[in-house]
Amino acid sequence: MLLAAGRGTRVGGATPKQYRSLNGVAVVRRTALAFLDLPEITSVRVVIDPAHRALYDDAVRGLGLAAPIDGGATRSASAWRGLEALADAPPDAVLIHDAARPFVDAALIRRVLEALRHGPAAAPGLALTDALVRCDDSGVLAPPLDRKGLHALQTPQAFAYPVALAAHRAAADREGPDNWPDDAAVLTAAGVAVRLVPGAAANRKLTIEADFAAARTPLTTADIALPRCGSGFDAHRFGPGDAVTLCGVRIPHSHGLIGHSDADVALHALTNAVLGAIGGGDIGAHFQASDPQWRDAPSRTFVEWSRDSARAAGARLINADLTLVCQRPALAPYRRAMTAAVATMLALPLSRVNIKATTTEGMGFTGRGEGVAALASVMALL
Ligand code: MG
Repeated sequence: MLLAAGRGTRVGGATPKQYRSLNGVAVVRRTALAFLDLPEITSVRVVIDPAHRALYDDAVRGLGLAAPIDGGATRSASAWRGLEALADAPPDAVLIHDAARPFVDAALIRRVLEALRHGPAAAPGLALTDALVRCDDSGVLAPPLDRKGLHALQTPQAFAYPVALAAHRAAADREGPDNWPDDAAVLTAAGVAVRLVPGAAANRKLTIEADFAAARTPLTTADIALPRCGSGFDAHRFGPGDAVTLCGVRIPHSHGLIGHSDADVALHALTNAVLGAIGGGDIGAHFQASDPQWRDAPSRTFVEWSRDSARAAGARLINADLTLVCQRPALAPYRRAMTAAVATMLALPLSRVNIKATTTEGMGFTGRGEGVAALASVMALL
């Protein structure tokens, strides 16, 4: 159960914080997704201020959540109403979580669930590490408090459902739906032992505008582009001719390379490496060897197409590393020109393109001078 009924006005702005966008995704949607991703969670319900219904519907569209529950004037009143709304089909256990903590992760959720095996209530907390003092109205500090054993509590807090419902009912009967700081406080006041489990520093609550600004940079792993590696290999046979084309550079030689395009074995390997990094299949699937339009085509066409495909997929190419394998021709004099050509094709700085050449010391088909082989690796963020 996500508590999203607060006014959320401390952040400022017209939209309550739980419905504000964080890198394009509403806070409450991020929070709901963190729970929906776990198979242990059978249902996610959100307690809202009915005045926010349109914002809520917009934020969670497509998630398939059951209808929201109307909250009350205070946090504890909202939690109580949320628990009452589940009474018709009572679950065994309920997690109560602040919607404004979107960075909750699966490990933390599982820790509080696991703690329920040992008792009816659990709450995550972080041991306080900063010095604690009380400050009087004139801004003068009193002697520091002993922080030993003190913890800052977080959510999700996990409860055996009947125990949580009974405690909230008792609290409501005794004092009305007052603004208890959290549900652990309500349960503790009802005499229930609430077990502490380790919280997570990343599970912070978005409270003020600065929290939003800080949160926009490092987000959940779903927002962080991950590095992906692609590899490519190709080989072409020598045939008649007076030059080979490698990395788009014409290199005089006693033979040419045979192939349906310009037989630039390096660029074919490179194209496959780009496609590999973005899960794009291979060059042969996109450019059929039998297709006459590719006869004698410059292979930079294939590389540039793969680069554009990467862009279209939202990937950012990071670097390319190629190894050319042949006994002859000698490639060292052309390395600089090949590096520049590949950097231009991939729109990368020169420092992110590396080209190496090796012989196989006379062994194998390249060693016997039958052709040229090339290996390529490309890294992309996607
Ligand atoms: Mg080829």
